[in-house]
Amino acid sequence: MSLIQVSAEISLAERASDRAEGSVELIAVSKVQPNERVLAVLNQGHRVFGENRVQEAEGKWPEFKSDFPDARVHLLGPLQSNKARAALQLFDCIHTLDRPKLATAFARLAQELGHCPPMFAQVNTGLEDQKAGIAPEAVDGFVADCRALDLPVVGLMCIPPVDEEASMHFALLAKLAKRNDLAQLSMGMSGDFTKAIAFGATHVRVGSAIFGARVPATPSE
Ligand SMILES: *Cc1c(COP(=O)(O)O)cnc(C)c1O
Repeated sequence: MSLIQVSAEISLAERASDRAEGSVELIAVSKVQPNERVLAVLNQGHRVFGENRVQEAEGKWPEFKSDFPDARVHLLGPLQSNKARAALQLFDCIHTLDRPKLATAFARLAQELGHCPPMFAQVNTGLEDQKAGIAPEAVDGFVADCRALDLPVVGLMCIPPVDEEASMHFALLAKLAKRNDLAQLSMGMSGDFTKAIAFGATHVRVGSAIFGARVPATPSE
């Protein structure tokens, strides 16, 4: 596929589920991609990207942003607390608010820095040991705690288990978001973004379908 094909599929999926044209944000996941591929997508006019490591993003986005000042970068990967400051300074949106300790660190830094990007709370819908995120039954309490800390939580994010039907995870995330009055849903990747849109995704995170296979291939996250 390509940026144009993915965008066309998103438009079709929006129409199929009576969503407004352009209501789904496409995050082009540029992690581990060669800079030429990222530049090609920037030159096609796309401006919203996703990365999953602070250090990798620090190595390429300040320069891309000086050439494309309206480019926006979302953090999609797990974050160590000691990188929270760098993350708040670098990213325009954080999708991996995944534990109370990180919420506390962000709240303190937001006070100090006087700014805080919008955040998604990550939910471990499959209760997988190797995955970060809040357990579904703890989401209501976590969201309430984040709000009490004045964190700008705008929605929920999930990464369904690779070996399960994604639909039930998307449906669960949508239900949890609705119950907590959260309007945004970050869900859907290259293999299932049209399905995610049918379940209400507002942000889809698509990497390989836009850029081609990652080189070198990364272990699945
Ligand atoms: C890598 C990654 C993606 C994109 O994966 P593709 O299958 O290449 O579309 C989406 N979300 C997260 C959290 C990722 O780490």
